[in-house]
Amino acid sequence: MSLNIKDDTASLTYDAIVIGSGISGGWAAKELCEQGLKTLVLERGRNVEHNKDYPTATTPPWEFRYRGRINRQQQEENPLITKAAGYSDDCDHFFVKDADHPYVQEKPFDWIRGYQVGGKSLTWGRATQRWSEFEFTAPERFGYGIGWPIGYDDVAPWYSHVEKFIGICGNKDGLEAMPDGEFMKPFDMNAPLTHIKQKLNENYTDRHLVHARWAHLTDPQQVHLDQGRGKCQARNMCMRGCPFGGYFSSVSSTLPWAKKTGNLTIRPHSVVHSIIYDEKLGKASGVRVIDANTKEVIEFKARIIFLNAAALNSNLVLLNSKSNRFPNGLGNDSGLLGKYIAFHNYRASVNADIDGFLDKYYFGRNPTDLILVNFRNLHKQETDFFGGYTTFMNAYRDQHPDETSAGQIGGQYKDDLCEPGNWHVFAYLQGETVPKESNHVRLSEDKKDQWGIPLLVTSVSYDDNDERMVKDFHTQTSEMLEKAGCKNITTYNNKQAPGLDIHEMGGVRMGKDPKTSLLNQWNQLHHCKNVFVTDGACMASTGNQSPSILYMALTARAATYAVSEMKKGNL
Ligand SMILES: Cc1cc2nc3c(=O)[nH]c(=O)nc-3n(C[C@H](O)[C@H](O)[C@H](O)COP(=O)(O)OP(=O)(O)OC[C@H]3O[C@@H](n4cnc5c(N)ncnc54)[C@H](O)[C@@H]3O)c2cc1C
Repeated sequence: MSLNIKDDTASLTYDAIVIGSGISGGWAAKELCEQGLKTLVLERGRNVEHNKDYPTATTPPWEFRYRGRINRQQQEENPLITKAAGYSDDCDHFFVKDADHPYVQEKPFDWIRGYQVGGKSLTWGRATQRWSEFEFTAPERFGYGIGWPIGYDDVAPWYSHVEKFIGICGNKDGLEAMPDGEFMKPFDMNAPLTHIKQKLNENYTDRHLVHARWAHLTDPQQVHLDQGRGKCQARNMCMRGCPFGGYFSSVSSTLPWAKKTGNLTIRPHSVVHSIIYDEKLGKASGVRVIDANTKEVIEFKARIIFLNAAALNSNLVLLNSKSNRFPNGLGNDSGLLGKYIAFHNYRASVNADIDGFLDKYYFGRNPTDLILVNFRNLHKQETDFFGGYTTFMNAYRDQHPDETSAGQIGGQYKDDLCEPGNWHVFAYLQGETVPKESNHVRLSEDKKDQWGIPLLVTSVSYDDNDERMVKDFHTQTSEMLEKAGCKNITTYNNKQAPGLDIHEMGGVRMGKDPKTSLLNQWNQLHHCKNVFVTDGACMASTGNQSPSILYMALTARAATYAVSEMKKGNL
């Protein structure tokens, strides 16, 4: 592609540029704008405005052609993206189309993306537990990874900062393995789960079934009302966009907040090609963008750059940012850029039935699950696999009569349909995986996308450690549910490819030593200090908790540091 660069410096220069407008980019924009920086957010996808661009938010099921379900055409045209958790006809407009955004799967990898303003914050699951100190230290303590340059105490105040602003519901449980935060009241725990919790307490000292933490407003505070958001109505239609702003997305929260400062410019349809390195200045001077529609190449300049394109795209941008100083990608003196990609082990689940509780029901469509807090490999390495795991758990009642119903047709059947059925329990695994050098992404040498950018090659796979964890999860969860009085317990290994967990991480990891990492303790590239990477690419290990709130906390922390360094004249 010829670089027909339009260089109108006056209108193309900002204090800060943020690449990506999703969960982490929204936070970078909020913090940098609030702290006085003229900030440009570059987003490759279309614009999405709160409410205005949620076309299905209030559509009843019968108004969808297939009642909101995936139809055959969608499945045939998008075999990859239709696999995503929660993907359906009612929210497909917040996911990419497979054919528009190819990549090369050297090994099977389901790369789930949402290219629009708001990114995946519109469709995420909203689980927001804090990491514990165990997770920060385990890889180094047990010898399966490098040490983090920061620990829990460094991020704890930033977790609080984020939690108060986005609104998290949960319960304070006083557990070391899942620290408490700033919570609003949780949703109700239903009767069988309360029973299972009690049975676990009777049978074990280390198994705690508690409310997970979720980015839902159960008791909105002034700061949430000021964002124009209101109480979660438990409609459980979150992935369509919430007209109440009941859950956190950057579209409903951080971006409009940043806009109010008067310091924000968002430019949708701006595919970032690379970060420009100025050899004379010895730092990055700006960002090269290809307009998604016109294919025009434009360069924007700024003093600092926040890279928040989501883990794998941030890897891609850095790998494609080549210069004489950095021929293998920006900041890549160690040669490790794109390596140590990891994800979460999402292969295992357990189902069971539980008798009784037929006079118990619950109100509404609770959009949250419980968590059985990690109990593996906390103080010592005690299993035949590395890492810990979180177990999400819930119980629900059949919405239809069981086979013993008197009527299978006619009036009796209709009457039976008005009564909820038996209770069932499900549990699924969210496990840590071990970052390995061989699990990597790189640029294709011969294939490019429609904007002339090399395709990403994914070479990432599960391994034996993950399968041993699955086995332990099946054994332990079955045993616990049996002790709680469940029956018909079945275990399942879905053997899914990495990526479908949608928790991809690493490739630009933080670390203490520039020889074994790309970023320092402030998420700055060791060798290009005015570039900050604060999305999942920065993760040195995966922990077992849902990661996005950590990206938000790290982003707010790094942005505040960046502004203070700018004020001191260091950036
Ligand atoms: C169904 C689902 C359930 C999930 N559940 C949870 C959960 O419960 N808890 C949790 O912690 N996480 C969950 N996640 C993961 C969570 O969504 C991501 O971790 C989070 O969105 C990552 O934030 P981000 O800012 O890095 O990326 P994103 O939110 O994806 O934003 C990245 C943005 O960058 C843009 N971009 C990419 N490349 C470029 C480029 N070259 N130029 C310009 N812009 C670019 C994209 O279009 C996008 O808007 C879930 C995700 C999904 C889809």
